Amino acid sequence: MKKILIVHAHPETQSFCSSLKNTALEYFKQQGSEVIISDLYGMSFNPIGNTSDFTVLQSPDFFKYQAEQTHAFKNNLFEQQLKAEMDKLEWCDTVIFNFPLWWFGFPAILKGWIDRVFAMGFAYGAGKGVYDNGTFKDKTAFLTFTTGGPELAYGQTGKNGDLESILFPIHHGMLYFTGMTVLPPFISFSPARLDDEQRIQEIKRYKKYLSEIKKSKPIYKAAN
Ligand SMILES: Cc1cc2nc3c(=O)[nH]c(=O)nc-3n(C[C@H](O)[C@H](O)[C@H](O)COP(=O)(O)OP(=O)(O)OC[C@H]3O[C@@H](n4cnc5c(N)ncnc54)[C@H](O)[C@@H]3O)c2cc1C
Repeated sequence: MKKILIVHAHPETQSFCSSLKNTALEYFKQQGSEVIISDLYGMSFNPIGNTSDFTVLQSPDFFKYQAEQTHAFKNNLFEQQLKAEMDKLEWCDTVIFNFPLWWFGFPAILKGWIDRVFAMGFAYGAGKGVYDNGTFKDKTAFLTFTTGGPELAYGQTGKNGDLESILFPIHHGMLYFTGMTVLPPFISFSPARLDDEQRIQEIKRYKKYLSEIKKSKPIYKAAN
C-alpha cells in the first residue's frame, strides 16, 4: 500500500465521515505512502455519464455509452476531468472509497464516479477480462463508511438486512468485477448518535483497523 487513492464523497468537510478521510490521509502519509484524494464534492465532480464524457463522439446520431467509452479509450477522447480520475486510478495500488451510506449504497456523486471512471475499454470489456482476469487485479480496495442506522439494524435479523447483501453490488459487481482484491470494510455506525468521547474512540478504532489492514483476509481476491 504505497500509492493510495481516497475517493471521498461527503458534502460537509466537518462531518465525521470527512474526519475518517483525514485520518486515513494522515495514517498513510506517516507510513511513507503517497496519497491522492479525489474529494468529489470539493471538486464539483460531474456524476452524470453522458455525451459530455467525450471530446469527440464516434456516433453522434445515436448515443451508445459503452461503445463511446471503448472508442474514447482507444483514441484518447475522454474529457479532461474524467481522464484525470482515470489516471489517478491507474496510478494507485489501493483505493479507499470513503462515504456515508445513502439509500443502502453510494451517494449518487460516487456512483456516478464509478459509471464514468470504470469505463468500458479502460476498466473492463473490449478484450479485457473481468473478475479473476480483471484489469485491476494488482489493485486493492476497501470501503470506509458511516451510517445513520445502528449496528443492530444491520445484523442477520436486523430490519435493514445484512451488510454482506447490501454491499454485494459494490464489493462484487464493481470492485471484484474489475479484478480488485476487496478487503473487509470499516463501518462507523451512527456517529451522529455518539457523544464526542465515543467518536474519538471511533477514530482510534479506525487507526487500529488501518494498522491491521494488510493482514486482513480479503472478501474477494482474483485467482492467480
Ligand atoms: C440521502 C440520504 C440517504 C441515507 N440513507 C441511509 C441508509 O440507507 N442507511 C443508513 O443507515 N443511513 C442512511 N443515511 C444516514 C447517513 O448514512 C448518516 O447520516 C451518515 O452516514 C452519518 O455520518 P456523517 O459523517 O454525515 O455524520 P455527522 O453528522 O457529520 O457526524 C456526527 C458528528 O461527529 C462530529 N465529528 C466530526 N469529526 C469528528 C471527530 N474527528 N471527532 C469527534 N467528532 C467528530 C460532527 O461534528 C458531528 O456532530 C442517509 C442519509 C441521507 C442524507
